[in-house]
Amino acid sequence: MINLEIPKKFKPLASQANQVASEVFRPISRKYDEAEHSYPKELDMLASLIDGMNEGSDIGGAGAAGVRRSSNDDGDESNRNGSNLSTVLGIIELCWGDVGLLLSMPRQGLGNSAIASVASEEQLERYGGKWAAMAITEPEAGSDSASIRTTAELDGDEYVLNGEKIFVTSGDRAELIVVWATLDRSKGRAAIKSFIVERDNPGLKLDRLEHKLGIRASDTANFTLQDCRVPKEALLGSPEIDVKQGFGGAMQTFDNTRPLVAAMAVGVARASLERARELLAEAGVEIDYTAPALSQPAAVARFLEMEADYEAARLLTLHAAWMADNSKPNSLQASMAKAKAGRTCVDVALGCVELCGAAGYGEDELLEKWARDAKILDIFEGTQQIQLLIVARQLLGKSSTELR
Ligand SMILES: Cc1cc2nc3c(=O)[nH]c(=O)nc-3n(C[C@H](O)[C@H](O)[C@H](O)COP(=O)(O)OP(=O)(O)OC[C@H]3O[C@@H](n4cnc5c(N)ncnc54)[C@H](O)[C@@H]3O)c2cc1C
Repeated sequence: MINLEIPKKFKPLASQANQVASEVFRPISRKYDEAEHSYPKELDMLASLIDGMNEGSDIGGAGAAGVRRSSNDDGDESNRNGSNLSTVLGIIELCWGDVGLLLSMPRQGLGNSAIASVASEEQLERYGGKWAAMAITEPEAGSDSASIRTTAELDGDEYVLNGEKIFVTSGDRAELIVVWATLDRSKGRAAIKSFIVERDNPGLKLDRLEHKLGIRASDTANFTLQDCRVPKEALLGSPEIDVKQGFGGAMQTFDNTRPLVAAMAVGVARASLERARELLAEAGVEIDYTAPALSQPAAVARFLEMEADYEAARLLTLHAAWMADNSKPNSLQASMAKAKAGRTCVDVALGCVELCGAAGYGEDELLEKWARDAKILDIFEGTQQIQLLIVARQLLGKSSTELR
């Protein structure tokens, strides 16, 4: 097995995140799985602690806001292990603890990553430090995010937003929602922009919260935007509709956020493998790395197969984040990582339930919860099928109209 060492400067961060996962997340994991929609108040202090860690750190942190791309404009061509990699490493550890709780952490939303990725310095100043959710999905636009119908119309110094957004993670608890809307539907993808909407904006109406299979600690909200007015400065990125650039601007965020969701999947997969290994050992099944898999019990062969998949997912994820740190175009690698990690996480979590039999299925063990939590990681931030489509387009040099 390849064992890629964690860079020395990130070791304290990874070990602190692991400590949080085992001492804070794991003990309340079941409680908030059962108490769906109640806010895990234990996270408040932790979130402030993470803010403090990030402020005092020059390497980024375990937080979603750490994924701002550094430029290599200073001519420094050396390899960097920067904030994207450190964020990925922190997320892996925290999701080894509990992915639903990580998604419920104040100020660690995917909206925070979007803001960190594309906001101007003024916007960072204005919105930094606030908890931001991300609202792309609509009843008629899921995988095909280019077909969103929410509109944004300029009226004096304000944009007026109208539309419907569904499945917004942390939508009820966050202070800001990054809303995707079109400036002009006739201009297609290029006209889609993201806008920062304050959660208490009177034009933003919460319709309902979803009940879910997994990640029950995390709230998932549906909204209506009705004549929702935001200042002109709330538009992230450029207001110009650049038909040549197409969807590039809006999609750029995903190059930073997909490795983060892949990291969540890697964390859940590792948690499942580690617990299954312990339960197998208790049952007298030990894994011998020096003997061929097929000369060992069938359970060992299956375990090793899953571990190899896990390792491939982990390496792809680290690679995609490292590329972002080094300002290398990583759309292909970000999608590969998300596709592989999402699928692996579901296969591994269910495979571990299978290997452990009744122990894996019962509520005495977190394995059954992880098997439920895993599926969302293969769905949101682009489903596995959509990631494979993006990979195929990139490898074959086809456009989204040519291959869909
Ligand atoms: C718990 C939860 C939290 C979420 N959080 C957020 C959030 O914070 N913000 C947000 O904006 N959205 C969020 N989502 C929405 C999520 O991103 C979408 O569910 C996802 O993009 C898929 O869209 P859809 O559900 O409309 O499925 P569809 O797009 O209708 O897809 C249905 C199935 O068809 C497949 N499919 C679709 N098109 C193709 C194709 N061209 N080729 C092959 N297969 C295809 C898909 O892979 C999928 O398996 C969340 C969803 C859930 C369940």
